[in-house]
Parts: sequence; structure tokens; C-alpha cells
Amino acid sequence: MAMTSTADTPQQATVHASAGERIFNFSAGPAVLPVPVLEQARDEMLSLPGVGMSVMEISHRSKHFDRIITSAIESIRELMNLPDNYHVLFLQGGASLQFSMVPMNFLPQDASADYIVTGSWGKKAVKEAKREGKVAIAATTEEGGFRRTPTQDELRLDPNAAYCHFTTNETIQGVQFQLTPDSGGVPLVADMSSDILSRPIPSDRYALIYAGAQKNLGPAGVTVVIIRDDLLARAPEGLHTMLDYRTHVENNSLYNTPNTFGIYIIDLVCQWIKAQGSLPGIENQNREKAGLIYDAIDATDFYRGHAEPDSRSYMNITFRLPNEDLEKQFVQEATAQKLDGLKGHRSVGGIRASIYNASPVEACRALADFMREFERKNG
Ligand code: PMP
Repeated sequence: MAMTSTADTPQQATVHASAGERIFNFSAGPAVLPVPVLEQARDEMLSLPGVGMSVMEISHRSKHFDRIITSAIESIRELMNLPDNYHVLFLQGGASLQFSMVPMNFLPQDASADYIVTGSWGKKAVKEAKREGKVAIAATTEEGGFRRTPTQDELRLDPNAAYCHFTTNETIQGVQFQLTPDSGGVPLVADMSSDILSRPIPSDRYALIYAGAQKNLGPAGVTVVIIRDDLLARAPEGLHTMLDYRTHVENNSLYNTPNTFGIYIIDLVCQWIKAQGSLPGIENQNREKAGLIYDAIDATDFYRGHAEPDSRSYMNITFRLPNEDLEKQFVQEATAQKLDGLKGHRSVGGIRASIYNASPVEACRALADFMREFERKNG
């Protein structure tokens, strides 16, 4: 039997862009990166300043790379306001491997873990955790088609749970937690793959955060993990070396060869975020950008948002048109106008506009204008 792919981005028509031209990219991931970051990477591709070699050609144990990884770690610490008892790691295997590593490290045989499920990625996390031990579903909004996040009152939390896991932003459904759930004294674990560094969060309420880099942080192939000391201390002995978080903490993510290029890009992206006014600045931009598209959705009945308004994502905007033929036409015409990557995930259908940190406001404005024009002609 064929394994189902975890790919987020469906196949679709490609745009023909002329050499060097950049079109508006609404891909769910890998996704748009800031132009100044790409330009700097291009300029330094053959030779890092003062090094004479590309970042891809130097040892991960060299002093040059040490500067880069230290800067990336310090920047994430600074942006997220992380206290000293947190470690920042750069691992591989994607966010998908974290679905397994979290329970392998923190779900003992005699315990149970709480999972709050608000979409497809949360379900995948549950599937892997169940291989390791007991899982309790603290809340799920699947029955309504994953259109919202649960309220705090709806959470059936076990005060003795090993940890409580949730997905801050469900990339496929476009459903985002607006507030951090209160897990009481239970360690809170979050998959933040599609909204990390998009807004300020109360970092010290999280015991572990993980995120694949390929949406808000950098290229695919590197996963950021942020872990607090007290949770780390709970990992059992005898885990496989590479699957044990302590290995990576003790070796500053250099136990084996990390994705050096990916870490370099993450460092540049962090500098770019600082130049946008850090997380408060980037949050303002993200709200303004999403507002342009949600306004176009809300203006009429032609477009129907998938998520309920108070659970709407500021990163992935999901909506339907009156029928599938119009949706197909919408994607085709948008693609022809160089608005790429808008076809929704097959499990939700319709349209999905992913507008991560690096997505320019002009892209959102162009999409909102296109939506109004498309409705005028077809509504
Ligand atoms: N969690 C979320 C919220 C995601 O959006 C994705 C990828 N789209 C994943 C997990 C899986 O990430 P990866 O492909 O890095 O394993």
C-alpha cells in the first residue's frame, strides 16, 4: 500500500516567469523567503566575507561556522525572549520526526500524554505518539471539519499527563490558536512549524517548541527545537543517540553534521526579522496582510472562509468558492496573473493563501484585488 505523503503543497500549474523575475508566491512550504536574505546569500555564495569559501564548503566545527550557529541561536533567543534554561537546537528529519522524538523522550510507559487536535498535523502527531505509549485526546475539533480551536473550557486536561501537545497553527486547515492554552503544571509542547516567529508568544510557558524551517525560518532540511531544562531531565536512558535530545543539547547541535546552509539562512532570516521591528513589528505586518485577504472574503457570500473568524490563521488563509469549477478557474486565472501556489490542500479543497512573514504586503494586495475582480466577473 502506498504511504500517504505529508507534502503540504499540491501539484499545480506552473507560472512562466522571465529570468530574474519574482512572482507572488503563496506556497504553504517550502515558502517565500525575504528578498534581502536571498540577495545576501547570493552575494556570499562563492565566498563568505573574510573566509574565501562558501558556507557549504566549510567544516561545521570551524570557527567560521561557530560564529554563524552562535548568531542564529542568540538571535532566536533574543527574538523569542527565551530564558536561560532553554536550549535552541537545529535538528534534521523535519517536524515529522519530532512527532516521534517527543513521545520517545517524554512519554513513559506508565504515563499518558494529552493531545489537542485542531487539524491534519495534530492527527499525525497523535499517530506517532500512540506507537510509544498512551495518548488522551484533550480536545478535537475534527467533527466540525477542523474549523476552530477549542476554548480553554473545552480542554479535558489530565493534571498528571506527561505533557500536553498542540499545534499552534494548522497549515492545511488554516486554524490558529490566538492564545496559548493553559496546561496547568503539565509541560506544554507545541508544533509551531507554520507560525514560529510570526508574533510574540509567552515563551516561558512552553516546555518544548519545534518547527520545520521551511515556512517562516529558512529552507527545508532543518528543524528548530527549543527545549527547557526541566523537561530534558525527564528523558529516559538508553534512547538511540540521535533520537535523544540530550545528545544535541550536549553537543550544541553538532553531534553529527547539521544542515549548515540551512542554519546560515535561518541566521540571516533572524536578522531580517529584527530589522522589521522584531516580533511585534512582524505581527503588525502579518495582521495587516491577512486583513487585506480576510476583508475580501468577508465582503460578500461569494467567498466562504474555512476557519471560524476567531480561529482564523494569519499565516494560511483557507476559503471556498461557490463550486469546484469556479475554484479551478480561480487557481488557473490567478496563476496566469503570477499569483502562484493558491490551490488548497486536497483534504480541505478550495483555496489556500499562505502568507508567511516574508510574503510582501503587495502580494496580499494583489490577491485581494484579484479576488474582487474574479467575483465581479463570476459572482
Ligand atoms: N507540522 C506542521 C504544522 C506543518 O505545517 C508541517 C509541514 N507542512 C509539518 C508538521 C511537517 O513538517 P516536515 O515536512 O518538516 O516534517
